[in-house]
Amino acid sequence: METKVIRSHRRRRTVSARFADGIIYIYAPVGISDEKLTEVIKNFKRRFERRKLKKELNIKENLNEVAQRLNKKYFGGKLKIESIEYAANQDKIFGSCNYRRGTIRISHRLAEMPQWVRDYVIVHEMVHIIQPNHSKSFWDIVSQYKLAERARGYLIAKGFEPEAESDIEI
Ligand SMILES: [Zn+2]
Repeated sequence: METKVIRSHRRRRTVSARFADGIIYIYAPVGISDEKLTEVIKNFKRRFERRKLKKELNIKENLNEVAQRLNKKYFGGKLKIESIEYAANQDKIFGSCNYRRGTIRISHRLAEMPQWVRDYVIVHEMVHIIQPNHSKSFWDIVSQYKLAERARGYLIAKGFEPEAESDIEI
């Protein structure tokens, strides 16, 4: 991503940015140090790149369709999912579920993994809508997905922590 820095005398301390036509425009005060500016550019770049990635992944693949297929197969089509989409800021957790809202986010890292691993994560997060914990009853439902154990092993090997409670949003 190309960046263009616009320095302004009117700006005192704050730096802002906007993204247009593939270019990141950075608006910075004249007095900002090069070191600070480099850091700020790096952060904005990361933020815009993640936003772009998220958009691209969700255009490429409609996770709602995947979730509805899994809903029919494992929940008799009865599970209420408000929304499901890829997120680009989940590096350490494979996904997350806000069970109150019925919203699910899936890590961008799953987009590059085999479909059966991604489907496992989707099923895992879907079960959290009715079981917001990692209790025995939670795993009983999850294990209806036949490749659950294998998928968990796969995710551990990729550095994810399948037992962490961090995928449950409170
Ligand atoms: Zn979980």
